[in-house]
Formats: sequence, C-alpha cells, structure tokens
Amino acid sequence: MQRGVAATVGDDCEVVVVGLGAMGSCALWSLARRGVKAIGLDQYDPPHDQGSSHGETRIIRSAMLEGRQYAPLIRRAFELWSELGREASRALFVRAGILFISGDGPTEMASMAARSLSDVGLPYEGLGPRELARRYPQHRGAANLVATFDPSGGFVRAEETILAALGRAEERGATVLRRTTALAITSDPRGGVVVETDNGPVRARRAIVSVGPWLPTFLPGRAVPVTLERQIFAYFELDDLAGFTPEEFPPFIRDDLLVTSSGVGAHAWLSHGLSGFPSLDGTRIKLLLLEAGRPTTLDTLDRRVPDALLEELKATEVDPRLMGVGRPAAGTGKACLYTNAPDRDFIIGELPGQPSVTLVSACSGHGFKFAPAIGELGADLATATRPRVPVEPFAPGRAISGRAVSYQP
Ligand SMILES: Cc1cc2nc3c(=O)[nH]c(=O)nc-3n(C[C@H](O)[C@H](O)[C@H](O)COP(=O)(O)OP(=O)(O)OC[C@H]3O[C@@H](n4cnc5c(N)ncnc54)[C@H](O)[C@@H]3O)c2cc1C
Repeated sequence: MQRGVAATVGDDCEVVVVGLGAMGSCALWSLARRGVKAIGLDQYDPPHDQGSSHGETRIIRSAMLEGRQYAPLIRRAFELWSELGREASRALFVRAGILFISGDGPTEMASMAARSLSDVGLPYEGLGPRELARRYPQHRGAANLVATFDPSGGFVRAEETILAALGRAEERGATVLRRTTALAITSDPRGGVVVETDNGPVRARRAIVSVGPWLPTFLPGRAVPVTLERQIFAYFELDDLAGFTPEEFPPFIRDDLLVTSSGVGAHAWLSHGLSGFPSLDGTRIKLLLLEAGRPTTLDTLDRRVPDALLEELKATEVDPRLMGVGRPAAGTGKACLYTNAPDRDFIIGELPGQPSVTLVSACSGHGFKFAPAIGELGADLATATRPRVPVEPFAPGRAISGRAVSYQP
C-alpha cells in the first residue's frame, strides 16, 4: 500500500479494525455484513503463524468450564459459525463431539464439564473407566480416568476461518490492508480516531483494536494487564491410520497430570495435560503439548520448536496417554501465544479513557471458538448497537487485583 492510498481510503471509513487474527477478521466480516464502511489492517498477511490463530483446528465446546458468563456468547457463536460457513460454502465447524478426560488430579475437569452442560440443559454422556476404554481404546490408562462426552462440540477450522471472514468481508466492500503495521492510535481533533501506520494514517469514526498478543506493546498499561504464554503444538504420524477419524477419535482435553506440575489451579486444563484432534488427512494428528507451555514476552519469545524436543515430549507426555501415535512429523512444531488476563477472562469493551476505541482481546487460550460472536460484539460496540450478549464481565477496566478465579460451572 502506498502512503497516499492509506490517507485517501482512511479518511472516510466508519470503523478501522487493527489486527486481523481470529477476532479482527470476524469483526471486519460482521461490520461489512451490516453495511458499515470498514477498513481492516494487519502487519502480516493473515492467516500467518506469528500470533495465536494458526494451525488447522481449534476445539469448540458448549461446556463452559470458564463460567456461566460465557454461555450466551457460545450460543451465539454456534449460530454464527453456521452463517459464516454458509456464506463461505465450507463447513468451518465440524460437530465431532468432544471428550473431557480427567484423572484423579486436582481439577475435576470432566465433572465440571458435566455440570456446565447440565446447567444449560444440554445432553452429555458420563463415561466411567470401562466405557471409556471400550469406546476410545486410543486413550491409555482408562482404568484411572473418567470422561464427559459433549456431543454438541467438535472442532473449527482455524486458518480457513480467517480466510473465509476476510474474503466475505472484502466481497461485501470492506478494505483489507495487508502488511500494514499500526504504530499508534490517537484521537482525531476533528472527531474519531487516527491510526498511524507505516503506510500513512487511517482515519475513522471508531477503531476496534484486536492485536492479540501485541496488546501489551501496542497499548501498554491501558487496560487489564495481560501476560503472554508460549504454547506449542505439532503433528504426529499415525502407526495405523484406522481409529483416528473424527467419528472414531473426537477432539479431547486430558487434564490428568503425569507429574505434579507447579501452578495447577482453576484454569489447569488450559495449560496442563494434553489436548488433541482427530486426523483430517488420514496420515497424522495434531496435538497440543500443554506441559511445554511457559510464560514469555514478545521480546524473549523463542519460535523454534526443534524435532528433538518433540521426540522428548512424545516420550513423556504422549506415549503414556495415547496408543498408536507415531513420530512427530518433521518440522511441524509451532509456537503459539496465549494472551492471558490475570483472571483468564476476555477483554472486550471501550478502552478506558478513549471511548472511540473498542478493545477485543486477551482471549487467554480459549477464544477461538467464540471468534464470530466476539467479532460481532466488537462490531456492535463500535457501531453503538445494543449487544446481543452481556459484555460487562469482559470490561477492559474491570477490577481484578490478582484475585484467584473460582468457577461457577
Ligand atoms: C496453541 C494454542 C491452542 C489453542 N487452542 C484453542 C482451542 O482449542 N479452542 C479455542 O477456542 N481457543 C484456542 N486457543 C486460543 C485462540 O486460538 C486465541 O484465543 C485466538 O486465536 C486469539 O485470536 P486474536 O485474534 O486475539 O489474536 P491473533 O490471532 O494473534 O491476531 C492478532 C493480529 O493482530 C495483528 N497485529 C498485532 N499488532 C499489530 C499492529 N501494530 N499493526 C497491525 N497488525 C497488528 C497480528 O499480526 C495478528 O494477525 C488456542 C491458542 C493457542 C496458542
């Protein structure tokens, strides 16, 4: 993009969206489908593998382990996954079900999932050790495990979602400025905001800031403080292709700890144990190696995931839990970032002190499943439309004061 172009197109846009990962791309789609003149910009060419939204898949579930405040948001998200899929002529959500598997560990995730589903009147199946072993023999150690199966969940196609949302937004008239970095966001003395970019200013009445893990550097100290966590995922070959289709092997989260990890608490399933997906191509499966997660910053982040580390993690984390999984597929290990608020809740709402800026961020390792609904919420707030779902629990200026979060599942 040339400098003059940004200045021209930016002058009369109603809403500018800064950052086009899962949240920003869906916000742009939501703005465009309601006829709002919008510009979205990203420092890379999304989807890309530098933030939080890369890889083939993400888990989606109705069991809201995070608390009741998420229930309306996930209900709306399921509707919008269907709508985006219809518009894109692609099943972006696959209802394969999801298994929550717990051991004798401290978190009781499987029972939390059951309580959460029962709370909202959705069906689920409780599986004891024998039933788990019979139905899902791929999972080792069933004698000491229990599980809850949520048939309404499954997985969404991550990078394809971003492509679909941006593609549909552009078709409906939105402008996407790729490889355009926002340097600062200021209030325009004429009203509205000016986003200074490396290609010139973009002016708009309102801005949505959805920069994910770049939040602490882009708007330091302006909202609930967030920290970054580096997680890694990789693909593993299958010894035998049978048994790992979406019908046979639903996505799972296992929070049984093989060694006592430090920091296990209310959000343990997000950072401990193992999580994974069925095979989509019949040759390999994707696993999220949660025990390798570590705090990080953008300055210190190591993006390399050596194959030797994956071999090690396979021996310590995968082999004791899964049967039939082969070697890590060479070079498939990726680092991916969680952006965590201290209470691990989202940050959605007006930026304190700058009401023409709506923050949509800090999705704390569990945001993708909500992306179309969060994008819609961002678009509602930026266009003064009454949100369909309560947004107060996610206010950027909320008091947190480092309290430990407890669940009301
Ligand atoms: C390994 C892993 C597994 C996960 N699994 C799940 C799961 O199973 N289910 C689930 O629901 N969630 C999951 N999550 C969480 C989910 O993926 C994230 O919540 C979500 O992707 C966050 O999206 P985002 O748009 O906020 O951030 P990002 O995707 O990082 O997007 C931010 C964008 O802003 C752009 N940007 C930043 N700064 C600037 C700037 N100054 N100028 C221009 N552009 C800028 C970046 O380039 C980027 O494209 C997982 C996350 C990880 C890391």
